[in-house]
Amino acid sequence: MNWYSGAYLDRALRRDAERLAAAHLDADALMVPLWHGRSLVRAMAADSTRLRAVLPTRAYLQASGLPCGAPIALGLFRGQACFALELQSETMPDAEQFARGAQFADLRQIGMLLDASEAGLLAYARAMVHWLRTHRHCGLCGSRNELAATGHALRCSNAQCGHEQFPRLDPAIIVLVHDGDQALLGRQSAWPPDRYSTIAGFVEPGESLEDAVAREVAEETAIRVTDIVYHSSQPWPFPSSLMLGFTARATTRDIILDDRELEDARWFSRADIAAGRPRLPPRQSVAYRLIEHWYDGGAERPLAEEPGAARW
Ligand SMILES: [Zn+2]
Repeated sequence: MNWYSGAYLDRALRRDAERLAAAHLDADALMVPLWHGRSLVRAMAADSTRLRAVLPTRAYLQASGLPCGAPIALGLFRGQACFALELQSETMPDAEQFARGAQFADLRQIGMLLDASEAGLLAYARAMVHWLRTHRHCGLCGSRNELAATGHALRCSNAQCGHEQFPRLDPAIIVLVHDGDQALLGRQSAWPPDRYSTIAGFVEPGESLEDAVAREVAEETAIRVTDIVYHSSQPWPFPSSLMLGFTARATTRDIILDDRELEDARWFSRADIAAGRPRLPPRQSVAYRLIEHWYDGGAERPLAEEPGAARW
């Protein structure tokens, strides 16, 4: 399963008006607070390299007196109603008031230290709070937007307008290009040495996913591709993407870097990867799973069992 995905949450709550109304009054409902896009987490006592999400109850958060945005219903998490909530104080609140050792952290940096269900929940909450923050006003008439009870629609407060907006996703493709024996991986200049990954980019209006795959690969590397096949997807709420993973077969070999998005791109064999160069993306990422899918299709033993393979 890819990172930030899976059945970590029962989303049916927002379609049940009665239960949703009750959840909005439930003092024990769990809150997923975000402050300036940062998630509330704490280190596990037994293993400080692992993190847990800190989910204060509604009553606890209200008692803290912190200024908050409107709660956005997410669903049932571990059987309890759960809401995302923006903490709106200018300065960072004292995280320790919620749990010993708690801190506000950037999910992008710490997501892999959480268990999969909590990582998914924090990612979902982060995306919803970002959407609310960036859509305060109607795009048609400029009046203030109001959040519907479900938390999944914004309606313009100007009765003559009534324009509705829904959470938006920006689709992005990510593709493992191969020629059978070798895989095409690229790197950005800001990355640590030896870090390489699959080619990725946003889908543009007027394009199919397949069009976007072919265009992005051509723009970034000048390689032409065919046999574009869907593999799997991964939410990427930084701030609002959905990564759609593909494999594609190259019909050309010569790499030309001309749009400056990549510092380098090259062909790597399975032997290169087994030897630890390049360093691959984290195991939970769709990028890794695409590389693994290709690798395992032509290797004597699976990538996951290669002792020399290296990851970020
Ligand atoms: Zn309006």
